[in-house]
Amino acid sequence: MSQSVVEDTSVADYRRLRAAHLNEVTAALDDHVGRLDWSREQIDRHRTARLRALLGYARERSPFHAERLRGLDPATATVADLAALPMMTKQDAQENWDAIVTTRDLDRVRAERILAEQTWFSYTPGGEQIFSSGGSSGVRGVYVWDWQFFVSAVCLAWRTQAREEQRQPSTGVSRLAVLSAGEPPHASTPLFDVPTAPGMETVVIPVGAPFDDVLAAVAAAKPTHLVAYASVIGRLARAASRGELSISPVRVSTNSEPLLDEDRQAIREAWAAPVHNLWGSTEIGVQAVGCARGEGLHIAEDEVVLERVDENGVPVAPDEPAVRTLATGLANRTFPFIRYDLGDQVTLLPDPCPCGSAFARVADIGGRRDDDFRYGSITVPASAFRYVLGTDPRISEYQVTQTAGGANILAVGDPDVGHVSAAVVAALRVQGLADAAIRIQVVDRLQRLSGSGKLRRFVPLR
Ligand SMILES: [Zn+2]
Repeated sequence: MSQSVVEDTSVADYRRLRAAHLNEVTAALDDHVGRLDWSREQIDRHRTARLRALLGYARERSPFHAERLRGLDPATATVADLAALPMMTKQDAQENWDAIVTTRDLDRVRAERILAEQTWFSYTPGGEQIFSSGGSSGVRGVYVWDWQFFVSAVCLAWRTQAREEQRQPSTGVSRLAVLSAGEPPHASTPLFDVPTAPGMETVVIPVGAPFDDVLAAVAAAKPTHLVAYASVIGRLARAASRGELSISPVRVSTNSEPLLDEDRQAIREAWAAPVHNLWGSTEIGVQAVGCARGEGLHIAEDEVVLERVDENGVPVAPDEPAVRTLATGLANRTFPFIRYDLGDQVTLLPDPCPCGSAFARVADIGGRRDDDFRYGSITVPASAFRYVLGTDPRISEYQVTQTAGGANILAVGDPDVGHVSAAVVAALRVQGLADAAIRIQVVDRLQRLSGSGKLRRFVPLR
């Protein structure tokens, strides 16, 4: 059998299972839409039961969590009892992978092999999907999404929009343009390439391409619905306002980056479409989604517990500033995250939302976005580097500093410098920067900013 036949077979296998999976999503979505109308009491009752189920399962099947959950009785545990448990960092999760995962069919070595060998997205024999991401922190992680966890995450990502579609069914063809990484190992395309209304068509447009190509692809797709990174939508909206893009989306969904006021404003001016902002992570899936009727985002409290805590992991009062946000994902049985440090700070919005939902609200997630690098008239988005560096299994962390004709890259790990350098040069050429000078230096650790402990991942030339 030739290589291409092998690849075609694996892609066809994936598509068939994916179709089955999306039917599972469709079946679950009605339940999820219904939950949006739950009372506070219903949310709390459901959440407590889900938490007890998670803790009980994790204690039996995950040696890592069994150790941490000693002294807690899952049968009677409440959300408040989580405060007695230690926090879980990204480093904890990635360094204790085999002790955390709850299925004997998977370990880190096997997950890495799947990532290295798959030619397209794929499912394990157990129905899991393996994803990898540099995430906003830039530290590479490997993640497993089991069959039911994926269903939960997709429902959380889309139930708010699905309810609006049900309330106001569109006449004619609806078409969703999905602007995402477009390829493995990122979870974004499987998560967002989902029709939210009967008969909706979807088209995936990879955002790694030069912006003019993305613009042309969006124009050709004539989408009625858009989902994309916040910065990409902002750029599209500004192009539309300048008359360079003629589309009329009725709904816009943003994700993966802070939604800046300037982008929200640009979307409003270009299309006057409702905007659903999503805050998620590859670890937890989806933490919160905006309803497009009130400010901020509603926490998916039926599937995620969020704790706002101080530097020691002690919960703070709703009106007190928090240093970290810890998340416990109630739907992920195969790789449980319990009191996981998301690395974001959130502020609670105390007032009831105009939409009437009883789900708690957080303000728009702040933070700064990675800077684009400008070389004369050429703009290279940080994602061009991130796609190469953030998904290389031999790079655990990196920092990119712009130079006049390219960049200096510090990499922690054991990368094939020649290979990575060539891949970065190729990625920059796609963005219009020919023959970039890329210097890669392998280091033991990166210098973090004093105080916050955060790392400036992309340092533009001043
Ligand atoms: Zn609302």
